Amino acid sequence: MTGRRSWAEPWKVKMVEHLRMTTRPEREQAIAQAGFNTFLLPSEFVYIDLLTDSGTSAMSDRQWAGLMMGDEAYAGSMNYYHLESYKHLIPTHQGRCAEHIISQLCIRPGQTVPGNMYFTTTKMHQELAGGSFADVIIDEAHDPRSEHPFKGNCDLKKIEKLIREHGAEKIAYLSLETNVNMAGGQPCSMENIRATCDLCHRHGIKVYLDATRAVENAYFIREREPGYANKTLAEILREICDCTDGATMSAKKDALVNIGGFLAVNDDELAERARNMVVVYEGLHTYGGLAGRDMEAMAIGIQESVQLDHMHARIGQVEYLGHKLIEAGVPIVRPIGGHGIFVDAAAFLPHIPREEFPAQALAAALYVDSGVRAMERGGVSAGRDKETGKNLFPKLELVRLTLPRRVYTQAHMDVTAESVIALLENSRKVVGLRFTYEPKYLRFFQARFEPVRGNRVLEG
Ligand SMILES: *Cc1c(COP(=O)(O)O)cnc(C)c1O
Repeated sequence: MTGRRSWAEPWKVKMVEHLRMTTRPEREQAIAQAGFNTFLLPSEFVYIDLLTDSGTSAMSDRQWAGLMMGDEAYAGSMNYYHLESYKHLIPTHQGRCAEHIISQLCIRPGQTVPGNMYFTTTKMHQELAGGSFADVIIDEAHDPRSEHPFKGNCDLKKIEKLIREHGAEKIAYLSLETNVNMAGGQPCSMENIRATCDLCHRHGIKVYLDATRAVENAYFIREREPGYANKTLAEILREICDCTDGATMSAKKDALVNIGGFLAVNDDELAERARNMVVVYEGLHTYGGLAGRDMEAMAIGIQESVQLDHMHARIGQVEYLGHKLIEAGVPIVRPIGGHGIFVDAAAFLPHIPREEFPAQALAAALYVDSGVRAMERGGVSAGRDKETGKNLFPKLELVRLTLPRRVYTQAHMDVTAESVIALLENSRKVVGLRFTYEPKYLRFFQARFEPVRGNRVLEG
C-alpha cells in the first residue's frame, strides 16, 4: 500500500450482474406503488442500490470456494471452529438474533441500557426485554457539522450521571457500538473505549460490544489516533475486543458475507444460558441458523476484512463520493464516515417540516431522479416514544447513501453524486410525505406514505 496514489481496489471483477436501466416514468410509478418507501421497491427497478451495506457485499473467489468446503454435519460442523475469538462464540443467523439473546439474558425489567447512540434493532430488543435505552454518546455526534475525529465516543460524564442517578445495579450493561451507524459511521477512539470500559468495570457493569463495524473503526483508529499507525487492523481489533466482556456481531457488514452473525462472551455461565437459548430460536449452538458453508464464508470474510488494502479501498471509495458532494455544497455529516455518506436532509430541504419527513421524501426523490436507492435515517426510523406514543424527532434527519463493499465502480459514484447535486439545485421540487400505513415495530421497513400535495414526490 505504501506509495499507492489512490484508493483503487486491490481486486478485479470476475463476474458481472446486469442491471436494468429504467426511465423516469417507470420510476415514478414504482415509487408510488412502493408507498414512497425505498425499502418497498422491487430491486429489479433499482439501478445503483445504496440502501444498505448489510449482506450486499460481493464475496471473493476464496469465499465462494469456501462455500464448497462447508461441512454440513448437523452437530459440531468444523467450520464453527474456524470462528472462535472470545472465550465462547455462538453463531446466529444475523446480528439481531445475538441482540435478542443478550437482551433477554442480561436485562431485567426496569433496567437502563446505556449506549453510544441507539441502533434500531438493538434498542428494540432492549425494550422487548423490559429495559430502556439511554444515550451516552458525546454531544458532537448529534451535530452533523462537528468535525470531531471520534464522534462515536461515549461521554464518561453521562455514564457517571446515570450511575449516580440510578445506581449501578439498575444498569443492565453498556452497549458499545463501534463506527456508530446512526451517527454516520463515526468511530470511537481506543482511548475512549478503554476509559469507558474501565469506568463501567469499576462499578461492576459489563460492556458488550456491537462489533458490526469494528474493523472499519479499527481503520480510523489507525489513521487518526497517535500510536496506532504501525499496528495491523487485526491487532487493533483485538485490542478493542479485549476491553469488553462480549460482543454481538452482524457479519453482513464488515465480514463480507450475505448472511451471518454471532454472539461472543467470556463469561462461562452466560455462555451456557445463551447456548440454551440459541437452540430454541436459531438452531444448534454450533451453527445457530447458519449452514456450515455460511460459517466458512464468514470465517474467510473476517480474515479478508482486516486486510489493510481492502479497508483502504473500502473507505477510500466512501471518501471519494463524500468529497464530490462536499465540493458541490451538499450538506453531509462530517467527517465522512466509514460505510456511507449521510446527507443532512433537514438542511437540504429546509422548506419541508420535520412532521413531513424530509429524509423520507429526499430518498424517494433521489430514486425518481436517477434510480439510486438510499435509506431514510431520521424521524421515520426513530419511531414513537414508548411512553407517550408521540413521534420522536432525533436531531439527525439523514438520508444514508450506504456503499456495499466491493460492488460498485467509481463511475457509479459519479452518477450518484450528479443526481444528489441536481436535486440540491432543484430542492424546492421535492414534496413532503405523510403516513398512509404505519407498522407498530421498526416502522421504517414497511411504512407507506403519500405526498402531502399532488401525487408526486419530485415535481417538474
Ligand atoms: C445491521 C446492524 C445490526 C443488526 O444486524 P442484522 O444482521 O441486520 O440483524 C446491529 N447493529 C448495527 C450497528 C447494525 O448496523
